[in-house]
Amino acid sequence: MIPVTKPFLPPIQEYNHLLEGIWQREWLTNMGPLASQLEMELKSYLKVKHLLYVTNGTVALQMAIKALDLKGEIITTPFSFVATTSSIVWEGCTPVFVDIDKDSLNIDSAKIEAAITPNTSAILATHVYGNPCDVEKIDKIAKKHNLKVIYDAAHAFGVEINGKSIFEYGDISTCSLHATKLYHSVEGGLVMTKNPDVLKKLASIRNFGISGHDSFSTLGINGKNSEYHAAMGIANLKYIDEIKAKRIALTQHYEEKLKNLKAIRPLWHQESENNGAYFPIVFESEELMLKCKEKLQLAEIGTRRYFYPSLATALPYLDPVAMPITDDISKRVLCLPMYYSLSFEEVNLICRLILRVQNN
Ligand SMILES: *Cc1c(COP(=O)(O)O)cnc(C)c1O
Repeated sequence: MIPVTKPFLPPIQEYNHLLEGIWQREWLTNMGPLASQLEMELKSYLKVKHLLYVTNGTVALQMAIKALDLKGEIITTPFSFVATTSSIVWEGCTPVFVDIDKDSLNIDSAKIEAAITPNTSAILATHVYGNPCDVEKIDKIAKKHNLKVIYDAAHAFGVEINGKSIFEYGDISTCSLHATKLYHSVEGGLVMTKNPDVLKKLASIRNFGISGHDSFSTLGINGKNSEYHAAMGIANLKYIDEIKAKRIALTQHYEEKLKNLKAIRPLWHQESENNGAYFPIVFESEELMLKCKEKLQLAEIGTRRYFYPSLATALPYLDPVAMPITDDISKRVLCLPMYYSLSFEEVNLICRLILRVQNN
C-alpha cells in the first residue's frame, strides 16, 4: 500500500531523550523550555525576526484575524483547505471569494480590486502547495486601499522569495505543523509578524489575554502548545534538510516520468523554489483524472482531490458562488503520493499506471 502521505518520524531514541528532560523538569506545557527552544531554532532556520509556536494552523489563523482586529469582509481564495475560510467565519467576518489564476492556482491578484467594498478589512490568501502568491501586487493593493494582509502559509514551510522567507510577507503569516505537512510537530502552528506590537498582542492572545499577575490586556484564547509537541518539532527539525531534499528529488522524478502526460503543473513563482510539500497535477479532463484515481486505488495507491470542491460552493454555512476557474481546476486536480520514505521505484509504478490509463 502507498498512502498519499506519511508523517516523518525521527529515531525514537532522540524523541525519548527529549521526553526524559520533560520528566526531570515536570514542566509539561505553558511555554516551557522545549517550546522556547523550538521557537529559537525555527527563527534561526527560517530567518524570521519574530515567531510564535501555537496549537495548530487553524488557531494561528484565528489569532491572526483577532490580533489585526478585522471586521466585515475579508477577501480570500476558494482554492484552499477549509480552515482558510472557516477561520474567517469563526471570527465573525464574511469571506468574499476571488477566483484563482489558472496558472499559479493562487488568488488572482488582478481580480482583487474589483471585490473591494467599503466593508473590506483584509485579504487572506493561501500560498497554495507552497507556491508563493503574487505578494508584491497584493501588498500594493492592500496599501492603496488600507487593508491588512494575512497569508495562510500552511504549505510553505521553508519557502523563500529571492532568499527572503515567505513568512516575512503580509501583516501576519501563519503556518501549520500538522503531521501531514512537510515539517511537523504532530499538531502545531506558527504565527509570524514583523511588527513588534502585533507580536505582543498575538503573544497575549495565545495565553488567554493575560498580561501579568491578575490583569488582562485583550480577548484571548488557549493557543499554547505542549512540551511533547515541541519535542517532536525539535527532533524533526534536525532532519528538515534531508526531508526537503528527498521530496524535491521525488518531485523532479515525477515530472520527468510524467512529461508525456496531458496535464499541467502549477506555474511556480519565478523567484522561488518548490519545497516539495505536495505533488499536484491538473489533468486534461475530470474523466481522465477519475480514471487514474480509480486505477491507482485498485493498486492500493492513495491520492487526494486536494482541493475539491471549491470552498465557494462546498460549505453549508455560506451561499454558493460560482468561480469559473476554481470550479474547473478543482474538478481536474489530483495530488499524488508525496512523503520522505516514498521510493523512486514506487514513483515509477504510479507514473506507469497513470500513463497506461491515458494511452488506453
Ligand atoms: C493544514 C492547513 C490548515 C490548518 O492547519 P491545522 O494545523 O491542521 O489546523 C490551514 N490552511 C491550509 C491551507 C492547510 O493546508
